[in-house]
Amino acid sequence: MSDADARTGRAGSNTDVDAVVVGAGFSGLYMLHRLRERGYDVRVFEKGGDVGGTWYWNRYPGARCDSESHIYCYSFSDDIREQWEWTERYPEQPEILEYLNFVADELDLRRDIEFEREVRSATYDEDAGTWTVELADGEVVETRFFITGVGCLSEPFKPDFDGLDEFEGEWHHTSRWPDEGVDFSDKHVGVIGTGSTGIQFISETGGRAEHLTVFQRTPNYAVPARNRPLEDDEYEEIRANYDDIWEQARDSRLGMPFDHEHYSAASLSEEEIRETLEDRWEQGGFRFLHAFEPGHVLTNAEVNAVISEFIREKIRAKVDDPETAEKLVPSDHPYGAKRPPMDYNDYYRTYNRDDVSLVDVSDDGEPIERVTPRGIQTTAEEYDLDVIVFATGFDAMTGAILAMDIEGRDGLTMEEKWADGPRTYLGLMTRGFPNLFTITGPQSPSVLTNMPLSIEQHVEWIEDCIDYMDEHGHDTIEPTEASETQWVTNTNMLADNMLFSEADSWYRGDNVPGKTAVFTPFPGGLDMYRDICDRVASDDYDGFEFSRAADAPVAEQ
Ligand code: NAP
Repeated sequence: MSDADARTGRAGSNTDVDAVVVGAGFSGLYMLHRLRERGYDVRVFEKGGDVGGTWYWNRYPGARCDSESHIYCYSFSDDIREQWEWTERYPEQPEILEYLNFVADELDLRRDIEFEREVRSATYDEDAGTWTVELADGEVVETRFFITGVGCLSEPFKPDFDGLDEFEGEWHHTSRWPDEGVDFSDKHVGVIGTGSTGIQFISETGGRAEHLTVFQRTPNYAVPARNRPLEDDEYEEIRANYDDIWEQARDSRLGMPFDHEHYSAASLSEEEIRETLEDRWEQGGFRFLHAFEPGHVLTNAEVNAVISEFIREKIRAKVDDPETAEKLVPSDHPYGAKRPPMDYNDYYRTYNRDDVSLVDVSDDGEPIERVTPRGIQTTAEEYDLDVIVFATGFDAMTGAILAMDIEGRDGLTMEEKWADGPRTYLGLMTRGFPNLFTITGPQSPSVLTNMPLSIEQHVEWIEDCIDYMDEHGHDTIEPTEASETQWVTNTNMLADNMLFSEADSWYRGDNVPGKTAVFTPFPGGLDMYRDICDRVASDDYDGFEFSRAADAPVAEQ
């Protein structure tokens, strides 16, 4: 019997553990900590060789986070934030990994995490009200709660080009980068993809390879990040104001504590908008998006058009060759309709180098036909390459959850349930899969926000919910059909009223052939979302239903 069973009088637990948590990134680490603090038995299974999640896997050259360091971390512990000091405005992958290792050691988390252990399946037992979790090595674990902390961008997507097996050079996906790194000197390198990852990789690698060829299908709006070291006095100020910083971040749409120059741009002249943008361009990063309330930027097409054109002009001014510049200027989607990348290393000027070239592989250019033994064949030319880098992104939001075979009540699989797009209530649970919580799951704000804050909010909500269940003698929880339908409808409606539908993006699963295109994150903002979740909890988990399992042990009085 775990401490929690003893405390709540929930006697003779019929499972091996109270909770299985999948993943040891930001989500899994914090979930483990909170549940353990409350006396629950938890086992964490992590596919990777150590803690870190996204930051364990994404080790490609140039990998860095677009959220500013002082807010890309946990807010829950004064002790941790006092002991840790970030070195740059934006954290580089090795520093984030070091931070998560530090947290894991500080909270003594490793003793309950099992590395290189992949969860293959999870099956719900209706009578017992429990989950049977099977690992890839065959071990089976019975648990009451099954909690996924598998990340939103963790299942790599690689296009299925003919001929890759016969390629005589080496190839890598950026999110499965070899530990020992890749030596590019005297190599002809080809990179496919110009999303956030590709842009970081290209800026970092241009000039380090004999030649870098970029295969671009769709150009993007990259705003300068303006990275720099964090000075001591700046850090002092952050420390002195941390509580306020977190409060402002929690009360914001994106989970970032940045003021808006103006709430809405609707009443400003084009000249005034451009002046504001100029100032924000110098500040860089997501502060640019915050020139106006980000929701307005993503709902007002006219204002967005001014912003998009402003960035296009900036791009043209940086690229020497006008033909190359035009290829780099996005015109197919409004700014922000797909995740805007950041430019850390003068990305656009990379194309002014003689050893970097750009190939337009869109339908209007020369699409990639196949990989050959020597390189990449487009409809126009064969490009000789020693290394091919796939910066082609992820099966986002649902890919890592569906990579596990999850079977709920009456044999319904998650894959079947989500065949036409995910159906959840609050992005936290899905009907027919009782006691399965998804941290930053589809239809929660997740990727549209500063992730650690959204993760903390979910973890704390789940912890409170489990505690509530034990206090009230409930074995299982799941959403009602009505609340789930309403949540899916609301999420779609909010997205339909924004400009997201004007871009093909991984937000909607457009990047994965065959995947149903549906907008997946909750676009109403972290502030609104947090209020909804708090209200649901304080209304005795309105929209959820609790039950007692047929075979549940009888509680001792
Ligand atoms: P992504 O945004 O999905 O970009 C993938 C790129 O590969 C796109 O340019 C895409 O072109 C291209 N591509 C895919 N299939 C292709 C094909 N068959 N032929 C040619 N091109 C193809 O993936 P990502 O760059 O890895 O970024 C994903 C997300 O991860 C980001 O949006 C961000 O949220 C997160 N991320 C964050 C950071 C950070 O914080 N600094 C860094 C990296 C990633 P199309 O656009 O035409 O589809």
